[in-house]
Amino acid sequence: MPSNLSCLDCGRTYDAGPDEPWRCECGHPLEFADRPLPDGPAPDFAEIDTRAGLWAFEEFLPVSRRVTLGEGFTPLQDASSGPNSPDWGENTQFKLEYVFPSGSFKDRGATATLSRAAELGVEKVVEDSSGNAGAAIAQYAARAGIEADVYVPADAKQSKLAAIERVGANPVKVEGSQAGTPATRGTRPSSLARPLSPSRSQPSATGRSRTPW
Ligand SMILES: [Zn+2]
Repeated sequence: MPSNLSCLDCGRTYDAGPDEPWRCECGHPLEFADRPLPDGPAPDFAEIDTRAGLWAFEEFLPVSRRVTLGEGFTPLQDASSGPNSPDWGENTQFKLEYVFPSGSFKDRGATATLSRAAELGVEKVVEDSSGNAGAAIAQYAARAGIEADVYVPADAKQSKLAAIERVGANPVKVEGSQAGTPATRGTRPSSLARPLSPSRSQPSATGRSRTPW
């Protein structure tokens, strides 16, 4: 069962469904009402199946794995391993997030957002982005077989438009800043892909760690 949504500010709750609101009536972002926290000790990192990528932590996520491209567990590289490396100091590592399927860490949110969209039977998602998030949502929507409109600044680079178009999503050019797009003004149609989506923020937390997921 998809998790319902709740507002941490005013306490309103909303049933999960394709027409669920993208924010609370009071204007605040919504969170998942149910946040799974399995009983027992923390997982032993050595026993985690890294082949599952981000979804190795599925039991902690309020979304079921439905739309995935093998994202997560991007590698760590010692910063000073090359003969010509600058002095980055001791114990410095780079996390190579560019090896995500769409080329950025935005795939963490995209896999969860489109998984929830598929879970709810959503037919179309709408995203506003000037770059990486648009490409990620477009790519995962294609994987899910869900239509996607991506609102982009009118002066967006051709390379970024191409990343959206080549997987079949529809870029919609908007004059002005990203803050002025219909999506962020709250006038866009019902959708799941949005900057305030709880399905964006929850899986992104799996990348904030000293461990390489
Ligand atoms: Zn509220």
